[in-house]
Amino acid sequence: MPHKHAVYLLIAIVIGVIAGITSGWIWGETMVSIKWMGDLFLHALKLVILPLIVAAVISGICSLGDVRKLGKIGGITILYYASTTAIAVLIGLLVVNLIQPGVGMTELSQSIPEKVSGKEDMGFSQIVLSLVKPNLIEAGGSNQLLPIIFFCLLFAAALTTVGDKGKPVIAFFDGLNEAMMKVVIWLMYFAPLGIFALIAARLGMAGGGEAFFQEIKAVGLHVVTVLTGLTLHFCVLMAILWFVTGRGFAYLTGMGRALLTAFGTASSSATIPLTMECARENGVDPRATRFVIPLGATINMDGTALYESAAVMFIAQAYGIDMSISQQAIIFVTATLAAIGAAGIPEAGLVTMVIVLSAVNLPLEGIGLLLAVDWFLDRFRTTVNVWGDSVGAAVIDRVIKRSS
Ligand code: ASP
Repeated sequence: MPHKHAVYLLIAIVIGVIAGITSGWIWGETMVSIKWMGDLFLHALKLVILPLIVAAVISGICSLGDVRKLGKIGGITILYYASTTAIAVLIGLLVVNLIQPGVGMTELSQSIPEKVSGKEDMGFSQIVLSLVKPNLIEAGGSNQLLPIIFFCLLFAAALTTVGDKGKPVIAFFDGLNEAMMKVVIWLMYFAPLGIFALIAARLGMAGGGEAFFQEIKAVGLHVVTVLTGLTLHFCVLMAILWFVTGRGFAYLTGMGRALLTAFGTASSSATIPLTMECARENGVDPRATRFVIPLGATINMDGTALYESAAVMFIAQAYGIDMSISQQAIIFVTATLAAIGAAGIPEAGLVTMVIVLSAVNLPLEGIGLLLAVDWFLDRFRTTVNVWGDSVGAAVIDRVIKRSS
């Protein structure tokens, strides 16, 4: 896509976001009637994810050539994911300890919300098990991307070892990837309208601006805490980007369409196609975009990790339960795992928070305190999640270019 088009499209999406917020705020529930337009955009994005990921991961891994190279790049990718997620959790703990948003809350929730009931025994083993599924078609059908990526990694690694016989197969996936990226470019033109409808309808479902404002007020300090933490982490990622790659503001605006789509859809998985296309337009090596972005969208969730640590501490403060340093260390570890385990879909972080709460014996009922504003904070944390993947792709791009 020519550069000028990208700028126009970004401006159109920004207008879509502003128009969505304004009309949802003013007209409230009336705007739910245009939800279908947003859903249509979302369905189209989800439709391309599966063939796109399969083609991108396989052709991306194969283009690295050597399995040993994959080991090195994979290692650095995991190191980047782990360290940035850890920084995010630390920032979450820092802001929640400083602001203390839960202290003095009087209206506490008494029952476990429907969203998490039945998930009370969720644990670490479920996260590991979600990596490998016995039925690939079923995993694809229910949009469980991690097992698909895991299979593609194995398949691609094997393909690189079978010599000439593997070449036509690799060429097939290369071609499929190119065609899917073309489809993504076409879909991008619908983003302004789709994002407008998604935001307006969601705000409408919350009852419009006035009603939503009252809900936010009840847990206002929690919202301030999470947004402060997310802003800080966004800046930390920006600093990492600048320090490691020398890229700066231009990369941020170049990724703008993906970041706003993340905000509009609250789903890092649904945003994968745009994240990949924007990174590609920004000159990120395809070997980095094809592998790092799909994997990052499923396991690298800095915003979610930050949110989980801050929200769990908020619940502890609200129920008047003191959290020692060692308990906060447990929150640090489990929030990281819970973020890895969260799927890239709306409000997934709220469900995996059960792992963190159970680890430090906090009441699961506390999740009830977060429900009313979770959809709103979800949009911000998903944007940070996608920004984390975008910076990761730029970092790995640097590593690949330096070593070749
Ligand atoms: N909605 C987030 C994402 O898709 C996950 C979450 O934190 O709920 O990245």
